[in-house]
Amino acid sequence: MVRYGEIFLKSETVKRRYISIMTKNIGLALESEGLANRIETYRGRIMIYGDEPRRVAVAAAKTFGVVSTSVCTVTVADIEGLAATAVEHAERNLGPGMSFAVRARRSGVEGFSSQELAAAVGSAVLDRIPEARVDLSAPDYEIFVEAREYGGLVYDERIPGPGGLPYGTQGEVMALLSEGIDSPVASWLMMRRGCRMVHVNMHGGRFGGKDARKRVLENHARLSRWVPGHSLDLLVVEMEPFFAAITALKEPRYRCVLCKRFMLRVASILAEERRVAALVSGDNLGQVASQTLANMAVIAPAATVPVLRPLIGLDKEEVVDRARAIGTFEAHPGDVGCTVAPRYPSTAAPAETIMKIEKAFDAEGLAERAAGTVRRFRAKNGVVEEVG
Ligand code: ATP
Ligand code: MG
Repeated sequence: MVRYGEIFLKSETVKRRYISIMTKNIGLALESEGLANRIETYRGRIMIYGDEPRRVAVAAAKTFGVVSTSVCTVTVADIEGLAATAVEHAERNLGPGMSFAVRARRSGVEGFSSQELAAAVGSAVLDRIPEARVDLSAPDYEIFVEAREYGGLVYDERIPGPGGLPYGTQGEVMALLSEGIDSPVASWLMMRRGCRMVHVNMHGGRFGGKDARKRVLENHARLSRWVPGHSLDLLVVEMEPFFAAITALKEPRYRCVLCKRFMLRVASILAEERRVAALVSGDNLGQVASQTLANMAVIAPAATVPVLRPLIGLDKEEVVDRARAIGTFEAHPGDVGCTVAPRYPSTAAPAETIMKIEKAFDAEGLAERAAGTVRRFRAKNGVVEEVG
């Protein structure tokens, strides 16, 4: 059984479209794991039938839009059938001395109320396991029984899903993906929010760390595992000429602002070419010099499409926890340091000074040229290949 949350709030037509996209995505996830299945959609629930229910439930529970899944035993939708099946579940999982509760639901089935169903199932369990006791407010073990028009369902576990909206329902965005911790989380949050994703990375060449390329490809590959069966593109742009230009300038403290503006400029060109609606970055207020409010205000106008910053209000701790949960956290990233960043970066670069410097080294021309150096890497189910 697959449960979804926010989709419920949508109008009938939107709901139908979102559910159809989500079931397609679930189907792709199961197919990617080689799990045979049959998916049925009912009012408010999606049921997946298959031979390996536990693996199916775990795989489906990773799909964006899914709130949780449960492995159900299907039985007849009457009190006797549900009680007998519930007792079997309880015998496996309800030990002596433990408390339990029965949660019952009924819809489209007549002849008894959900309270009667709960009471009957509860006493059947107590008949079999007299050492157990009922506790409806804080039970050690919960058993769910549902009488539905398509059958009786019994389950006692919920596998949590990521929630969000089905992947592909919100249009395409382009995330600036680095070798770091933050940007993969930013990308994941927007994918969870239903955005089709394309990644862009700025390669530092001799100015970047020697493990940067490898790490960025790893981030890309790991994120693709969240949208099994879908191809996820990473565009890699050459930044070396830009770094050569700014390291030749005599004032080093504006480099980070110049760099971030340059990245947004190049990414905007690529976003417009691909007709992508917005950019995504892993900026987090106050984390580094280029993420002060003053510098963000100078950096932002370099983009010609909206920039989404899903991490802006999170604490580092929260981002790291999320990165671990997503599977993109890397405790030993290797040599990924930026050699261009100055010791004392400005935390409030004056906009006019920045414009003047950019004119002097022709930032616009360099950005146009950089946007022409794209190499494309395509990831699917965690495997990356260069596609030119
Ligand atoms: P991250 O952990 O994502 O690298 P950060 O906290 O280290 O973030 P910065 O490195 O200053 O902060 O980068 C801020 C944002 O700019 C990143 O989250 C990412 O979206 C983007 N960015 C930084 N470096 C690159 C890069 N080489 N290529 C593409 N985008 C980048
Ligand atoms: Mg970084």
